[in-house]
Amino acid sequence: MSNTPTDGCADPGQKLLSVEQGRNRILAAVPIIGTAEQLHLRAALDRILHEPVVSRVDVPAFANSAMDGYAVRSEDCFDSQPVALEIIGSAFAGAPFAGQVGTGQCVRIMTGAVMPDGADAVLMQEHVSRDGGQIRCENNTVRRGQNVRYAGEDMRCGDTVLPAGQRLGAAELGLLASVGVAEVRVTRKLRVAFFSTGDELASVGTPLGRGQIYDSNRYTLFGMLSRPEIECHDLGVIPDHREAVRAAFQEAAAVADLVLTSGGVSVGEADYVTEMLDELGEISFWRMAMKPGKPLAFGRLDKAVFFGLPGNPVSVMATFYQFVLPAIRQMTGEQAREPLLIQARSTQPLNKAPGRMEFQRGILQRGADGQWQVATTGLQGSHVLSSMSKANCFILLPAQDAGAAAGDLVTVQPFQDFCS
Ligand code: AMP
Ligand code: MG
Repeated sequence: MSNTPTDGCADPGQKLLSVEQGRNRILAAVPIIGTAEQLHLRAALDRILHEPVVSRVDVPAFANSAMDGYAVRSEDCFDSQPVALEIIGSAFAGAPFAGQVGTGQCVRIMTGAVMPDGADAVLMQEHVSRDGGQIRCENNTVRRGQNVRYAGEDMRCGDTVLPAGQRLGAAELGLLASVGVAEVRVTRKLRVAFFSTGDELASVGTPLGRGQIYDSNRYTLFGMLSRPEIECHDLGVIPDHREAVRAAFQEAAAVADLVLTSGGVSVGEADYVTEMLDELGEISFWRMAMKPGKPLAFGRLDKAVFFGLPGNPVSVMATFYQFVLPAIRQMTGEQAREPLLIQARSTQPLNKAPGRMEFQRGILQRGADGQWQVATTGLQGSHVLSSMSKANCFILLPAQDAGAAAGDLVTVQPFQDFCS
């Protein structure tokens, strides 16, 4: 899966990998979790279906009325004269009419009630006048099947209700319930372990020493990993000691399918991180043509997939969304999907040097003309985490571009694209 453990790290002149090349290499290497678990429908919300679900019933199960009105024989209503029909009973949803509708007869019927035998159309109650035990139908254009929902119209017995890889949202839970499915097999939860390394890192709740910063990456990672299909293991902050780092990597690889760390992958980092990865796994160090997020380590730590994300807080989020999330989706067997990309007019000039693809933080909204427009959040440094909080999208500026002028159309990726 990888080259020598330190390739790229030792050679700052190494060619940059494009974002697409990086993503393709990752997706070519990550395995799909092969095991499933059986869950009740409600517990399966937002999980990934492991195998297709086939319907064992027709939906609807029987022909029924789409309207409140009168079930009639369409042949009775073909006369050019208004017709009078005798009301011989009523049919409610859940309480069918037991008899047979004969010539000149009709049955009062409610939406969802079984079509009575003999009747083949429903007249809307607004289109008839009632006179005691009779109705008069003035409008004689009654078609066979009018206002009738036929058995199997939505789904037939034997039809595939949902394919493997489908994420189960609200509509899917309802659809499964509509065919009487009470339990489904979904991919088991993906186990993800993560930790931070660095002597400059203090945990929240402790005072900051001189030169220290709070460890924010474990919180953004916790937030991004808190998804129904993931079981998260936060292994904390690991101090800069060879044995502590070795133990953390070993613990992570033992509990997880996927191991994430932040920091320690750029040139000039303490040797023991690369040394440990070399000893325990098969890792490549890449330089991505991406801003923020140039350094990235990727490979295997024992049986687990490993990502060494950069340390800067915005880089962590950008690389997570662009590389780790697609890997997670693939590992859980989720169907491939197109990224949600929108063209928007930039309200300001966007500064950029050619060379790396940029993921600038933007605020997407509709302009007075009803069209999408995007504004920058301001300072774009990879340490400016407030830019992620102010933003609701990435502005994707292609590697070769030299920025954009006010009024230019640019491509944006709304953060909603990462929510499910
Ligand atoms: P590195 O990639 O380790 O050189 O880190 C790059 C920058 O990110 C440095 O300014 C680090 O202090 C910072 N950094 C590394 N890890 C974290 C973390 N867990 N939380 C916040 N900032 C971090
Ligand atoms: Mg560091």
